[in-house]
Amino acid sequence: MNGDIVVVGAGPKAMAVAARATVLRELGYRVPDVTIVEQRSVASNWTFAGGRTTGRQRLGSYPEKDVGYPYESDEFGTDNAEIDRRLYRYSWVTYMIERREYAGWVDRGRPQPRHREWAAYLRWVAARVDHRLVHGRATELDVSGDGWRVAVESGGRRTEVRGETLMLTGPGPAESRFPRDVVVDTHAFFVDGPGDVRRDGHVAVIGGGETSASIVEELVADRFESITVITPDPVVFSRGEGFVENRLFNAPELWASLSADDRRALIQRIDRGVYSTDALERLAAEPGVGHRQGRVVGCVRGDDGVALTLLDGHGVATTVRFDAVVDGAASNRHWFLSALGPTARERLAATVGAAEPTFALIEERIDRHIAVDGLRPRLVLPMLAGYAQGPGFPNLTCLGRLSDRVLRPLVTEPDRTRARPDGHAMTDAGPDAWMVATD
Ligand SMILES: Cc1cc2nc3c(=O)[nH]c(=O)nc-3n(C[C@H](O)[C@H](O)[C@H](O)COP(=O)(O)OP(=O)(O)OC[C@H]3O[C@@H](n4cnc5c(N)ncnc54)[C@H](O)[C@@H]3O)c2cc1C
Repeated sequence: MNGDIVVVGAGPKAMAVAARATVLRELGYRVPDVTIVEQRSVASNWTFAGGRTTGRQRLGSYPEKDVGYPYESDEFGTDNAEIDRRLYRYSWVTYMIERREYAGWVDRGRPQPRHREWAAYLRWVAARVDHRLVHGRATELDVSGDGWRVAVESGGRRTEVRGETLMLTGPGPAESRFPRDVVVDTHAFFVDGPGDVRRDGHVAVIGGGETSASIVEELVADRFESITVITPDPVVFSRGEGFVENRLFNAPELWASLSADDRRALIQRIDRGVYSTDALERLAAEPGVGHRQGRVVGCVRGDDGVALTLLDGHGVATTVRFDAVVDGAASNRHWFLSALGPTARERLAATVGAAEPTFALIEERIDRHIAVDGLRPRLVLPMLAGYAQGPGFPNLTCLGRLSDRVLRPLVTEPDRTRARPDGHAMTDAGPDAWMVATD
């Protein structure tokens, strides 16, 4: 339906947008309908089904950084405070109170929830906010007339979803660049483990990000005795989670004042490829877990395991043998470029001023509303917004600010006569079907 915002992926970002749209509609704003295209189920990347976690690993960021965080709306003038108050109905704390688990959680020291508990929270939000869920995989994204046309494939059937704005979420498919019969990819690892290797064998895990941390924690839990994390850096970095660092994730004005070099260095250091502080602390206590610096440039399977060729910081190559190797660094963040149809590709190329739209060129053109500056119809790309708008937009650390920025240009001022009472939710049945929430 034209006028919609189509969101690919039913994860936390989609829920943040749907929650704010629900609240704005209650306050009388004319808000686009939110259509979410999801290939599996809501929050599946936080469960075993998504192939990036078993669901047992713990969230790295605080759960209070939920779909409304930081509850500092600043795009809607005198309505900002009321919007934040209403958004809090979809907060992690409200969820815990409703489940009567809040006091116990606080008394236990507010532990980070497991990924599957975070998924359950997101599903709780999904059940309460207005949206239309379309099941299927978005396979082609193209421009048609004034809007987007998204081809969706499900069970051999192909349908189309249309909207005026398109927002893409998620880290992209976990596609390994190494041959599958040599290196175990993330999905295969979470389904079958590291392959045919004894628990006293030596397992290498490539990558220094959250997925790698999940894999190492799983290997430790499974009593593997010798695990080496391989990253191009001399250490496995972590987010500091100190006040100054956390503030950067949530202070776009401060971010905008930094030089381009400082912003790139900070993104490299604090966002991409880091273990959470908690994961790093837990793994530091494991004598069998070590680290080796190296950029993997080759891998061969032999009779006695897998030989990895690693380039060190001086560019010197060394070959190291492991009994099994798991790729925890595989994420194809560029997937959407190959999914663009001809018209979309042409317009995007013209907008960034190049024959081919590249990741680096697009990254520089993400505007205040997290969309590609100058491109019509609007394409919202939070995963590329770190450099231009702030390091919190690609991840979970300012979901409320993300939805504030994304929705502002898409809504029109309140017509209070259209305001709906609290507690109404849109069903899966279609954009025009409304039902009263039972909770
Ligand atoms: C294991 C792990 C742990 C992490 N922990 C943290 C953390 O603690 N804190 C933090 O800030 N960040 C963390 N991250 C980073 C994280 O990727 C992002 O912060 C997060 O995923 C953002 O949520 P999202 O809504 O963009 O996407 P996701 O929650 O990843 O959801 C994307 C959804 O899109 C669907 N999808 C993908 N492609 C298609 C398609 N073509 N068609 C239809 N549906 C599709 C997927 O099935 C999925 O459900 C973690 C990442 C991983 C992999």
